Amino acid sequence: MNVQQKEDEMLNLLEKLVNIDSGSHDKEGVDQIGRELAPYFTQLGFELEVKEQEEVGDHLVYRFGSTQPSILIVAHMDTVFERGTSVKRPFSIEGRRAYGPGVIDMKASLVSVIYALSYLKESGSSAYEHVQILLTSDEEIGSPTSRSLIEKEAKGKRYALVMEPARRDGSVVTGRRGNGRFVIEVSGRAAHSGIEPEKGRSAIEELAHKIVKLHDLNDHERGISVNVGIIAGGNAVNTISDTAIGHIDVRVATIEQAKEMELKIEQLCATSDVQGTNIELTGDMSRPPMVKNKQINELYRVVKKVGAELGLSIKDTKTGGGSDASFTAAMGIPTIDGLGPIGGYAHSEKEYLDVDSLTERTLLLAKIIEKLAKPNENSKKEVS
Ligand SMILES: [Zn+2]
Repeated sequence: MNVQQKEDEMLNLLEKLVNIDSGSHDKEGVDQIGRELAPYFTQLGFELEVKEQEEVGDHLVYRFGSTQPSILIVAHMDTVFERGTSVKRPFSIEGRRAYGPGVIDMKASLVSVIYALSYLKESGSSAYEHVQILLTSDEEIGSPTSRSLIEKEAKGKRYALVMEPARRDGSVVTGRRGNGRFVIEVSGRAAHSGIEPEKGRSAIEELAHKIVKLHDLNDHERGISVNVGIIAGGNAVNTISDTAIGHIDVRVATIEQAKEMELKIEQLCATSDVQGTNIELTGDMSRPPMVKNKQINELYRVVKKVGAELGLSIKDTKTGGGSDASFTAAMGIPTIDGLGPIGGYAHSEKEYLDVDSLTERTLLLAKIIEKLAKPNENSKKEVS
């Protein structure tokens, strides 16, 4: 392939996608991204099934005719950036880096998927016909509406390829910590702190006790982290506050730890330290950990080998951040994440794409698909 020409084409599409804001809560924007991508997939012969959503953008499933796909590609169309961001800082290129909201997480990946599939078609490989693509719209808010769809579509697949960006050093991701979100709402009794403080029951004091106990659950050696990241409460300095709220982020390394933490947090909130206050706890461990097991390791070795054939030295890494890879991995499906292009500073103004990696990683993705979709390996019918 003419790399320069492909890169120009890909950057043109990327520019278009980055300049359409598609925050997770911006249904219109996310749906617009879906509409921009549709012609590329349909030109390749894929059929679209739209999973309509009311609150968030529609999820999109692309299948190739009647073939039983063996590979599921999972990518998301939403970003963490609200409407108006791309007007303030539109797509730009400086040196060999591209910038703009969502450029690496993960609009470059969307472009990469399209060009990997079309590369296979152009080069006469039918491997792309064995791929099913799932484009979701709410990954950045924890995949509340797409989780069950991801699990449904992943069922019976031999492999799941997740398109989160590669790490800054080019590593793919073979392990992720599990993630949970909890909210503690404390109610107490308000009273004037000067006139009749004995009548008050401080929700803030109660929350303070819980914050200390929650942070005591941290065990970084075991990979457990608990963080009360947001608190609020009270409305006057001379009032004993009757409300307080805390938002908790929990990370775990194993499935057992996820259960353990859920139980510990429930137990901890079952009784109040400040008599007369009440605690309401909501939330759960929404994303299971992705644990690098034997199957994931085998798939990683394939990725590494394909990389080596292209002259790329591919390493793998674990990360604390969550992604949809956790869902397919927890189902026991060999999953590799971080197959998107290389970049960094996702979710910030400094977010960038390493432009050279755009065509490089696209070719890698194409070759991985080609390797995994080998007809001799797929001739056996799936039993599911
Ligand atoms: Zn992402």
